[in-house]
Amino acid sequence: MPDSPASPLDLLQRVFGYPAFRGAQAEIAARVAGGGDALVLMPTGGGKSLCYQIPALLRPGTGIVVSPLIALMHDQVAALRELGIAAAYLNSSLSAEAARQVEQDFLTGRLKLLYVAPERLLTPRFLDLLGRARPALFAIDEAHCVSQWGHDFRPEYLGLNVLHERFPEVPRIALTATADALTRREIAERLDLTAARVFAASFDRPNIRYTVLEKVDVRRQLLAFLRDGHAGEAGIVYCGTRRRVEETADWLAAEGFSALPYHAGLDADTRRRHQDRFLREDGIVMVATIAFGMGIDKPDVRFVAHLDLPRSLEGYYQETGRAGRDGLPAEAWMVWGLQDVAAQRRFIEESEAEDAHKRIAHAKLDALLGLVETAACRRQALLDYFGEKSGPCGNCDNCLAPPTLWDGTEAARKLLSTVYRTGQRFGAGQVIDVLLGKRTDKVAQWGHDQLSVFGIGGELDDKRWRSVVRQLAVRGWLTVDHDAYGALKLTEAARPVLKGEERVMLREVVARRPKRTRQAAAVADLPAAEGRLFEALRDWRRRQAEEKGVPAYVILHDATLKTIAARRPASLEQLADIAGIGARKLESYGEALVALVAAVPEEA
Ligand code: ADP
Ligand code: ZN
Repeated sequence: MPDSPASPLDLLQRVFGYPAFRGAQAEIAARVAGGGDALVLMPTGGGKSLCYQIPALLRPGTGIVVSPLIALMHDQVAALRELGIAAAYLNSSLSAEAARQVEQDFLTGRLKLLYVAPERLLTPRFLDLLGRARPALFAIDEAHCVSQWGHDFRPEYLGLNVLHERFPEVPRIALTATADALTRREIAERLDLTAARVFAASFDRPNIRYTVLEKVDVRRQLLAFLRDGHAGEAGIVYCGTRRRVEETADWLAAEGFSALPYHAGLDADTRRRHQDRFLREDGIVMVATIAFGMGIDKPDVRFVAHLDLPRSLEGYYQETGRAGRDGLPAEAWMVWGLQDVAAQRRFIEESEAEDAHKRIAHAKLDALLGLVETAACRRQALLDYFGEKSGPCGNCDNCLAPPTLWDGTEAARKLLSTVYRTGQRFGAGQVIDVLLGKRTDKVAQWGHDQLSVFGIGGELDDKRWRSVVRQLAVRGWLTVDHDAYGALKLTEAARPVLKGEERVMLREVVARRPKRTRQAAAVADLPAAEGRLFEALRDWRRRQAEEKGVPAYVILHDATLKTIAARRPASLEQLADIAGIGARKLESYGEALVALVAAVPEEA
């Protein structure tokens, strides 16, 4: 960097090629550049990296970034180098020789940013190095890893307060996308950041569209979702079990998708290969358990689908947050069924945890079911859970197509009575057969065709009765007893419903999400000439990425390519105006891009 004093905005525009800061980025950068500590809570895709990268460029010395994720470090460093910034990383993937070179560059002050794994940072060797070199700041990424309650706990993070003790004059910035109050407090206390200024951004991700559907025919539903607007796009399909991951990946591959499995049962090599392909190639569908995703920095994940219920709203928000980091339209899509709820309850009950822990886990599941069940805005419900008030969003299934409600008071009564009359020993299938008056072998064998409730439910079909069961279960009037083959049982709370004292409004089953509206990002939706140019640009980018051995988005983001396709810059000057084109990218790729635009005619 030149010695002339640069301003944060100056750097943002010149080096990163972005016209303006987002949210509190400018304030945070100024605070840290000025030597102050900061605790930054920002959703995934909010733009946390710039909050430490820019101060690191402004301060003398090297910004030290603590990150738990090796793959992420690699890609971030590649992206910074693409911008012409001297950056490197130190982790176990480097040879001793390469690591020594990085240390040397750090000591001589040649690096502006150095990414370090926490266990490496805490070694006496590195602490000694820090003492002899010049750290500009410490950025602690994924700071929630310090929380023992969270699922990403990393014991090494607990040692990071040594930084403050040893180097009290070096500013620190801790960053996380985990929102809940308990985790925030833990981060501040454990990292000795109680005096830091807290910057809490809104956790809303307005570009993500939420859809939650009842399971009717999962494969057909998923296929419709993928084909209707996500063809050729990258996304993640989360499944609850390894087996479902394998089956779903195979099936999607047979249906013509570039689908890959990912779960903890695959060997490390396969996992790495699949993750690499997801990051580097366009349009890969990763079918995975939640073992996949943390630290996946890919900005153009266009959808996250859940085929099984996540464990909690926190989990759901984190997983869906991996979609649309680039700010372009993205979708979070989930189907759920009664078996999911039963499976989760069983999982909690059978865990080794203490009762207090189990109670929390049940409560978290209930909160998630609240989201699934609501007929109001999904985003409002989500944000409310994280302590943020908002209005209806206009970009979730319930806002776009308000669910049709029907008076299910009578149906609920009939269902609950049938459960009761059959002795609370049977699953939904038998109960519904009785309601529908089906004289199956099992119905006859138990004498259920002799009951007063036999055949009282002819007004609804099997599919709708199943929906009633699900809805009563999420509201806590019915439980599914997993020790007794999924037997339905009444709860105490069901009493007024059974007696008809409580009015029950139910939502109509919708198997399909509302039609995509025009904001859709799919390439197929672009005007023909623009689509052709965008495809040509993607091809070009793929070749560049392959040559350099970096993910495509490290070269240029989709958003930038789309703007180029729309504006057709005819000169380097026009190109420089486009967000994502900084000085170095202009120098490296400017000529090629302008030539490419000229080569793909506007009229076919
Ligand atoms: P986070 O770490 O919070 O998930 P990132 O730092 O990876 O988010 O940023 C998400 C995306 O937004 C990146 O592609 C980044 O280049 C882009 N971005 C960040 N800040 C800005 C900005 N001020 N203007 C335009 N794009 C930005
Ligand atoms: Zn909404």
